[in-house]
Amino acid sequence: MNNPTSPAAAERGLELPMLDLLPLDLSAYRQGNTGIDYCHRFESGRSGPDVVIIGLTHGNEFCGAHALCELLEQDIRPLRGSLTLIFNNVAAYQRFDPKQPYASRCVDEDGNRVWLAPRLKHPNSEETHRAARLVPLLQEADLVLDLHSTSNPVAPMLIYPELPDCSALVATLGFPFPQLLYKLGTYHPGMLISYAMQHGRRGCHGLVAECGAHFALESAQQAHAITRRVLYRAGLLEQDALIPPWGYEPDHSAGHYRIREVIEARTEQFRFSHPFRGFERIARGDVFAQDDGPLVAPFDNCTLIMPARIPLCGVEAVTLAEFLG
Ligand SMILES: [Zn+2]
Repeated sequence: MNNPTSPAAAERGLELPMLDLLPLDLSAYRQGNTGIDYCHRFESGRSGPDVVIIGLTHGNEFCGAHALCELLEQDIRPLRGSLTLIFNNVAAYQRFDPKQPYASRCVDEDGNRVWLAPRLKHPNSEETHRAARLVPLLQEADLVLDLHSTSNPVAPMLIYPELPDCSALVATLGFPFPQLLYKLGTYHPGMLISYAMQHGRRGCHGLVAECGAHFALESAQQAHAITRRVLYRAGLLEQDALIPPWGYEPDHSAGHYRIREVIEARTEQFRFSHPFRGFERIARGDVFAQDDGPLVAPFDNCTLIMPARIPLCGVEAVTLAEFLG
């Protein structure tokens, strides 16, 4: 669904990445205590925020699974409030094939675009069925951290709505990498964190953490580091909790960006004008791709975010964000 060219077909002829980070066996975590497979919830019995940590919203983004397994293996329990751990798209994860490492991103469709009330009311794909099952857990959340990774080896980043509460929370994390702000209700319709903020508890905060490249060992370390920081700042961990170092060193891409536009490929001829990896900054009027005509930067300090490895007609090819400093 919404998948004009199959990922497997699109993989052909492309160089395979190094697969340093591999899937873990999750069978021990299938049966949780929520009545929903691969979901675990721990109550402290004390008042405090309900924090939800999610991995595998995209099935081939293993860093989140590693971070969740680490919390479960360490028997981390919340000091206050509650902690819910969700392995999201395990069905896609279990289809991982090292020869087609990008193909197991989803089963039927992008699991981070299906969080729309009408879709969840009438689920008709693996991802909408799974999302509909998870709704009760998200509706009780005060804070949702959704762990992802990127196709290209670029700096880790946080993506969150441009709201004072979210910015205030992020400011406590000491996050030294890029931060991408979007207007809630715009950007990608159907994002999980947007759904939690719009349909869940009043005042719910949502963060997407992109933790580096999909199959890099450092991405697991980064997922681990951001998860611990969020839990610590939410008051779920002890004051003397060990906070692990980040997975990466900050680079020139650090700073704040405002997401302005998502470019979809309109034709199969879509080609970027350079082999962009992400965070390249261009000036207004600069050509960055050819589609059914040249595509130019519509504003200054225009930054290319997560350019698609293989632009497909009708699918997001790149996000344009304004560098704010
Ligand atoms: Zn993702």
